[in-house]
Amino acid sequence: MNKFLHLAQAGVQQLVPYVPGKPVDELQRELGLSEIVKLASNENPLGIGTKAAAAIQAALPELTRYPDGSGFALKATLAAQLGVAVEQITLGNGSSEILELVTRTFLSPEHEVVFSQHAFALYPILTQAVGAKAQAVPAKNFGHDLAAMQARINQQTKLVFIANPNNPTGTLLGQQELQDFIAALPAQVLCILDEAYYEFVAPETRIDSIHWPELYPNLLIARTFSKAYGLAGLRIGYGISSSDVADLLNRIRQPFNSNSLALAAAEAALGDQDYLQRTIALNNAGMQQLTAAFAELGLSWIPSSGNFVAVDIGKPALPVYQALLHKGVIVRPIANYEMPNHLRISIGTAGENQVFINALKQVL
Ligand SMILES: *Cc1c(COP(=O)(O)O)cnc(C)c1O
Repeated sequence: MNKFLHLAQAGVQQLVPYVPGKPVDELQRELGLSEIVKLASNENPLGIGTKAAAAIQAALPELTRYPDGSGFALKATLAAQLGVAVEQITLGNGSSEILELVTRTFLSPEHEVVFSQHAFALYPILTQAVGAKAQAVPAKNFGHDLAAMQARINQQTKLVFIANPNNPTGTLLGQQELQDFIAALPAQVLCILDEAYYEFVAPETRIDSIHWPELYPNLLIARTFSKAYGLAGLRIGYGISSSDVADLLNRIRQPFNSNSLALAAAEAALGDQDYLQRTIALNNAGMQQLTAAFAELGLSWIPSSGNFVAVDIGKPALPVYQALLHKGVIVRPIANYEMPNHLRISIGTAGENQVFINALKQVL
């Protein structure tokens, strides 16, 4: 029993902490396995890109200095590449921090936040952390039910989270339905469009959302270098919003929230289109490889636009997860997302995927 529990604010008292994917080192210690495949945190299986690695090397001698708190060079490169104004960009310690800056800037305990069932676990955590009320709206075919979400908006609603593609389901909304939803939002309701997996979406279904904040000043788009750009360990992401919203986020962020190595590596990664294309090609091939194996095993899965896929084991998935661990394969059980029969598998290299498939066949 935590002796300080009663002293925490009401929302925090009820918080259940985020459970990350099991780290490789931890499983090695527990089971004494040497060969471990981790397909549990939607990380980039290619390893760090050469340009990002060189930028990190080059930045090492300056580590005794504070970072550039304005993120000038990275913002300039992002602005040029995305075609947005520098004033619209907010940099964060991962895009998770961007989401947190928004909740801390705009939410008070009297406010409500709308998001979908099966949506990213950070949304309820960030909502409760500031004492606001979470309104989780039942999903439709595992994806966002925008009509039901719209119906849940009331006078108290201040924020709506939409993950597109969503994690852990991989579901994707269409351009028209999403734009209609955002256009219909009351002016006092802010929308966070979380596009952590944007780069993995097939070009023909990808939504060209980046200029929407110019049309809808209550919209913020969050993107990250953690997934397709392969920099999860460095913690760097960004928000694109109206300059007014960015100005407010800038007031509460810590002055050095993005570290020097992250700033340098992210800027270099933006210039490494080859790495990005190889990442996407590897992901597409791996998605084929995994879903073909699921089909062969008679398992159904949720079609995914991300770098992961949720597969229906057809029975409680936790024992399967544990049996896979004993074979040195870490995947993600998602019972905490109200999907007790599914496992979420991050797409790995062809070799890693095969290790998982072989283990899954044995375990089932
Ligand atoms: C991974 C992820 C993020 C952000 O991760 P960061 O490493 O903090 O940038 C945000 N949203 C979703 C849905 C994610 O899966």
